[in-house]
Amino acid sequence: LSTRASDILSKFSIRPDAELKGVYDGTWRGSGEVIQSICPTTGEVLANVRTASPAEVQETLAKTREAYVKWRNEPAPRRGEVLRQIREALAAKREDLGALVSLEMGKILTEGVGEVQEFVDICDYGVGLSRMMNGRVVASERPGHSILEMPNPLGVVGVLSAFNFPVAVYGWNLALSLAAGNATIWKPSPTTPLCSIAVTRIISQVLEANGIPGAVASLVNGGKEAGEAVVESPGVELVSFTGSERVGRIVGQNVASRFGKVILELGGNNASIIMPDADLSLAVPAVFFGAVGTAGQRCTSTRRLYLHRQVADEFLGRLKTLYGSVAVGDPLAKDTLLGPLHTSTACDVYTQAVEKLRSLNADIITGGERYQRDGLQGGNFVQPTIALPKSVNPKDGIWSTEIFAPILNVAIFDELEEAIEWNNAVPQGLSSSLWTRDIRNVGRWIGPAGSDAGIVNVNVGTSGAEIGAAFGGNKSTGWGRESGGDAWKQYVRWSACTVNFSDAAPLAQGVSFAS
Ligand code: NAD
Repeated sequence: LSTRASDILSKFSIRPDAELKGVYDGTWRGSGEVIQSICPTTGEVLANVRTASPAEVQETLAKTREAYVKWRNEPAPRRGEVLRQIREALAAKREDLGALVSLEMGKILTEGVGEVQEFVDICDYGVGLSRMMNGRVVASERPGHSILEMPNPLGVVGVLSAFNFPVAVYGWNLALSLAAGNATIWKPSPTTPLCSIAVTRIISQVLEANGIPGAVASLVNGGKEAGEAVVESPGVELVSFTGSERVGRIVGQNVASRFGKVILELGGNNASIIMPDADLSLAVPAVFFGAVGTAGQRCTSTRRLYLHRQVADEFLGRLKTLYGSVAVGDPLAKDTLLGPLHTSTACDVYTQAVEKLRSLNADIITGGERYQRDGLQGGNFVQPTIALPKSVNPKDGIWSTEIFAPILNVAIFDELEEAIEWNNAVPQGLSSSLWTRDIRNVGRWIGPAGSDAGIVNVNVGTSGAEIGAAFGGNKSTGWGRESGGDAWKQYVRWSACTVNFSDAAPLAQGVSFAS
């Protein structure tokens, strides 16, 4: 193994030749199939991980429920205190964990560290929440009665996560779940097992030091079957799924068929719209980051760019210059802006998408090939690509499908209404961005006839969100909301309690049932 990789792994006591246990429910184990963690930059095998056998998934589910039954009795501020300690433990490992994310997932170091910071931020949020998950008292129509709406813990939350945010997405769910008094069982992506093990080790140490069952934050590494077992388990009250629309459709239907609760955070196909009055010195770099950052592998990556005719040439010229200057290479190196795609399969998806664009006579303005340069052959490096398709029909596959790679499709419009129509015409509805200085455009964009996405930005790119607002998308993105805002309300069981303090027992609506 390269020194670069072994140095990072050694920070988590991961020896490259060892077989890691990928299951945690108070103790570490794993006797299922072995999965390999493969470095997307070099192709080297970072470690082997033993996944959960089907029996171990069931045992872990049972242990997680036992842990929940204990954890729910801890007062919420006490739960917040444990979360505060988890926050401190994560912050102490911020740089090391960020480097591990970069190594295993392939995003550049600053984004890897940023992802851990997001976990830290949401822990802060959860600590505050633990003292303010308030219910309410509702006026009763009956004398001497009060109605309370009480948030109670929900139960076990199954967190199924995607490869591209191997730390933060779990963090969003864990922080709210723990504050709400739930236990979680995490089934991470099979291609980022090391991040999940490192995070769970950090958290389990805090739980164990506080005398809390480790299974409050359980882990089952594995593939589709382990995911299915969590989804189908009647003991999992809420399934929080982050991943593709294809799998989300199956998960959503499976959870609904057993009347479970589900949060779906699925694919995005996000557009930026540039008006003639936009400040291009801000808009061009923002689109560059949105489309090329994380090698186009964020759910919020910019995939569609709608340029007003008046600024189209200048915008494209400036954007192309930035594309031409992008530093490609090892995501751990200080100056790199473009790392690899996560898997070699993703490179094939990229190649097929470019071929499809070519077959439709799209103008490939820049990019379109895999990198063949020295030093990049071992990894999954592809050129960031700008394409100007002939058709602007948003219903065409090239516009309506999320391709998880740095491909940006461009179209030119004359009226804002047209661009908003294109923005809304795709199945997905995650993030969107308008660049303008005109307040009237802003009003149209954020109002009833504006963007139908969950994230509606103005002079801010599509990619990258803070934890404070509820995060999620509409339509085939799944309608889920996580992180800030009112998202916590989904992680509790609401009890509507009518309490009679009087000496009579009247019925509501004046109903009389006397014989
Ligand atoms: P994926 O759908 O392939 O996998 C997601 C998870 O589902 C993995 O843990 C996988 O093992 C599991 N899984 C696969 N089949 C399953 C089944 N039948 N039942 C239960 N679980 C199953 O997604 P991916 O390729 O890892 O991630 C990329 C996708 O995630 C993109 O579409 C991206 O937009 C999306 N994403 C969305 C958000 C969001 O917040 N909206 C955030 C990050 C990623």
